[in-house]
Amino acid sequence: MGSELRAQYLQAMGIDAWRLRASSVDAQVVSAQAVNARPCAVPVSSASLGNTAPDIATNTDWDVLQQHVADCTRCDLHRTRTQTVFGVGNRTADWLVIGEAPGAEEDKRGEPFVGRAGQLLDNMLAAIGLDRARNVYIANILKCRPPNNRDPQAHEVACCEPYLQQQIALIQPRLILAVGRIAAQNLLKTDVPLARLRGRVHRYGERQTPLIVTYHPAYLLRTPGDKRKAWEDLQLAVRVYRELGGGATA
Ligand code: SF4
Repeated sequence: MGSELRAQYLQAMGIDAWRLRASSVDAQVVSAQAVNARPCAVPVSSASLGNTAPDIATNTDWDVLQQHVADCTRCDLHRTRTQTVFGVGNRTADWLVIGEAPGAEEDKRGEPFVGRAGQLLDNMLAAIGLDRARNVYIANILKCRPPNNRDPQAHEVACCEPYLQQQIALIQPRLILAVGRIAAQNLLKTDVPLARLRGRVHRYGERQTPLIVTYHPAYLLRTPGDKRKAWEDLQLAVRVYRELGGGATA
């Protein structure tokens, strides 16, 4: 991405352009703590999802998984949803962005991160050369909207988690960007505040996928003063990706 174009994106985020830090990543692994979650009443086996050996070369596993989500009644959120919000983007992307749960607009349109917060996320991603239609996949912890946009409850997360885990197994991302406190804490199984989860490299799952934490764009719309910190988080993610041999994102 050219510097002029990058500057335009940063301007769209409402922040000034900064230069990349020259220092290497100060990676720290945060050990996961047990989350205080009530188990979901209805277990989901990987066999029931039709995906014991995912094949990302075909859409078969994705189609089965997406249909399971569309039909899901594992928690009470199915009663109030307009539709499920499965995810969007490139299913073989190196980058996976994970948010919290659908809001009103997402529930209406069936796509994560739409509306003003979605626009800001798109601008943030564009600033590091990512495009939801091209080289990133975007999903949420929950596939159904919690009423009145309340925080997801622990048992809802427990019910929905197998779907996200299947998506991650299919995508096999090189890097995960956890957007917002709810996503970060649930992925890392911790109750450590978001401010202390930022600025370091966590690891997710058996593949020890690097996971970077940043602010939710809805929060940034309310607190634009923290956009600079979000930009630092994105720069950390880019450095980690490059150190993995991922090359340029643009
Ligand atoms: S939130 Fe997840 S577990 Fe609950 S009904 Fe929706 S898809 Fe099923």
